Amino acid sequence: MIDPFGRAISYLRVSVTDRCDFRCVYCMAEDMTFLPKAEVLSLEELDRLCSAFVRKGVRKLRITGGEPLVRRGIMNLFRALGRHLETGALDELTLTTNGSQLARYAADLHAAGVRRINVSVDTLDEAKFAAITRWGRLPQVLEGIAAAKRASLAIKINTVALRGVNDDEFERLVRWCGDEGFDLTLIETMPMGDIDGDRTAQYLPLSMVRASLARRFALEEIDYRTGGPARYMRVRETGGRLGFITPLTHNFCESCNRVRLTCTGTLYMCLGQEDAADLRRPLRDSESDAMLEAAIDAAIARKPKGHDFVIDRRQRKPALARHMSVTGG
Ligand code: SAM
Ligand code: SF4
Repeated sequence: MIDPFGRAISYLRVSVTDRCDFRCVYCMAEDMTFLPKAEVLSLEELDRLCSAFVRKGVRKLRITGGEPLVRRGIMNLFRALGRHLETGALDELTLTTNGSQLARYAADLHAAGVRRINVSVDTLDEAKFAAITRWGRLPQVLEGIAAAKRASLAIKINTVALRGVNDDEFERLVRWCGDEGFDLTLIETMPMGDIDGDRTAQYLPLSMVRASLARRFALEEIDYRTGGPARYMRVRETGGRLGFITPLTHNFCESCNRVRLTCTGTLYMCLGQEDAADLRRPLRDSESDAMLEAAIDAAIARKPKGHDFVIDRRQRKPALARHMSVTGG
């Protein structure tokens, strides 16, 4: 799959549910309305859709959400998709999770062929963790992370940088990840979906965070890429990798190799644009995959060049109405 700008599309992110057991303040309102079950693809349908993408050249699949591990039977999907690793059609099957269910699933994930996972942890302070996630509990997440480590899963911690909330903790997070052998990626907040509160107050440019970390640590440029938009540095003192995802201050669209599928079968060709393609209809209308594959080709043919996120101080509406839990980040 090659898009109009010559970019090969080899990475599919799949949101398998819009539901979550947390209510992170930057991601969801506390009283979210979720999709009716009939609109959500079954696990078999998700497998069929993902497999069509693998046939078309996707080499990397990331399962995300909402919280993917709260979806009932989700391990069946991991096991089904794991078969593409065995045939060599797929290079990598990964997961982004809040970690709450990892203690239960870490070993099964490894058995299904998952080798790397991303776990979102914005703070190591229990009270702050409860305040940011509203419904989450830090000890449960740390237990999950420990279980993942025991199961030999490589771990990357994702931390959303929030002004006045966790901006005093980045040094601690860098040291903790260094000690544990985890990579760390810091993420700027993106203006997606209505939340309760003012997003401009939370926005913290990572250029500032990086400058302040560079006073504490020796950060060395390295040539490490995971196929995602993060740029990585090596922290000399800990040996760990530190990544920065800066959608607002830095444009990474030129090298975009990904598309995103929601749990209703809607394909977004860009995280920051409204245009989308409905793949549920061709999926459900025909038992053969011909219509589905034609719909995928038509969608890739109109992948946009890039996004134009702006956190606008005058217009306090989100740049995009849909929540991150729909496309999974
Ligand atoms: N529930 C899983 C988790 O939290 O890792 C997977 C889905 S979550 C939507 C994926 C990632 O998006 C998380 O790392 C989360 O912190 C991040 N995220 C959510 N809303 C965001 C926003 N408005 N700006 C930046 N990152 C956001
Ligand atoms: Fe749930 Fe992840 Fe959104 Fe937090 S960031 S509310 S854990 S989907």
